[in-house]
Amino acid sequence: MDDVIVLGAGVMGSAAAYHLARAGQRVRVLEQYAVDHTLGSSVDASRIFRYAYDHPAYVALARAAYPLWQALQDETGAHLMQYTGALDFGRADMESLLAFRQTLTETGVAHDWLTPAEVAQRFPQFHLDDDMMGLYHAEAGYLAAATCVITLAQQAQQHGAVIQTGARVIDIQLGADSVTVRIESESFSAARLVLTAGSWTPQLLGALDLNLPLVPTRQQVLYFETQDLRQFEPERFPVYITHGDFWYYGLPSVDGSGLKTAVHNKLGAVNPDTMKRTVDAEHVEQVRAFVRRYLPLADGPLRSSRTCLYTMTPDEHFIVDRHPTAPQIVIGAGFSGHGFKFGILIGQILADLALTGSTPHDISLFQVTRFGA
Ligand SMILES: Cc1cc2nc3c(=O)[nH]c(=O)nc-3n(C[C@H](O)[C@H](O)[C@H](O)COP(=O)(O)OP(=O)(O)OC[C@H]3O[C@@H](n4cnc5c(N)ncnc54)[C@H](O)[C@@H]3O)c2cc1C
Repeated sequence: MDDVIVLGAGVMGSAAAYHLARAGQRVRVLEQYAVDHTLGSSVDASRIFRYAYDHPAYVALARAAYPLWQALQDETGAHLMQYTGALDFGRADMESLLAFRQTLTETGVAHDWLTPAEVAQRFPQFHLDDDMMGLYHAEAGYLAAATCVITLAQQAQQHGAVIQTGARVIDIQLGADSVTVRIESESFSAARLVLTAGSWTPQLLGALDLNLPLVPTRQQVLYFETQDLRQFEPERFPVYITHGDFWYYGLPSVDGSGLKTAVHNKLGAVNPDTMKRTVDAEHVEQVRAFVRRYLPLADGPLRSSRTCLYTMTPDEHFIVDRHPTAPQIVIGAGFSGHGFKFGILIGQILADLALTGSTPHDISLFQVTRFGA
């Protein structure tokens, strides 16, 4: 019998396995596909990390998470973190933009509140409307997402974790103080189960008599060729997020990829097993219209595209908690399109919850019971 089974090897499961294995636990990770596959949420070359949030709890988590990514980078030599700064922009009276600014002020994160002319002076790639403002903070950038997942998984293995790929869990049975999970050909038991199944979590929780309002949504990510690629490289171009009816966001060109840009899509439940895996032509035109207006130098041909999954909760806060009636199960889910940056810390929190039932970090926003479960 293992000490802990981790179900799912995205960023959350790989991070949990990393911390558990380092703590000397016998860990088995079961992943239905491969480490670093492209069908879940933890894919691609880049994920934004930043402090700009509308709730100070996330700033506290970011302050705890980023040194852990840095330490993993130092420990392994893998290039995981790239600082670029982050630019939020929108109408000057936009509530969310003002809330982000207030949180940065209250939590002491250095930032600048910039007019469109000041934004253009600092970042000539952007053309903001006259009634907009920019919120810039330098302590932000992107994580090399796929490399982060691979590095966490490798480090977990180096500390003794067993990672089984092509291992789809089809059943979970509770024992008195244990859990048994079944894949097609075998069963495994452990004292604890860490459930980090991303968009597949609702299917698995249903079998555990726990219905949480988790909604997988389809994301479409586009890469545009630019007139002058150097203007969109990490040394000159910040990660950005717009505040408005649609939240567009983008990241620098990584290894010649072109400008990465997308819309933060919260709507439209999909089944992760049957979801359409190509982008819609009309969506490309919607995003192109945004790029043409605000980032005109990047209005080039579409170089590539991909789809990906968010798992939304109604309040967009995560679920990081023990199962309410089966404390041997710890759940990390519902990361609502903004979880990656915290992944290495969430893994530590999940490991602590599995081993001791508590964590020193404030995760009060993330309780299962807020949904009346
Ligand atoms: C397009 C896009 C952009 C994003 N941008 C950002 C960003 O800029 N910054 C940020 O912080 N976050 C961002 N996110 C969110 C972030 O990527 C996710 O919150 C995070 O990757 C979630 O990781 P996960 O481990 O929970 O899920 P996943 O990566 O999906 O991992 C779950 C794993 O469980 C496995 N699994 C599921 N069911 C089973 C089963 N029955 N048996 C075995 N294995 C199973 C799956 O195959 C999968 O590998 C973005 C997400 C997307 C899609």
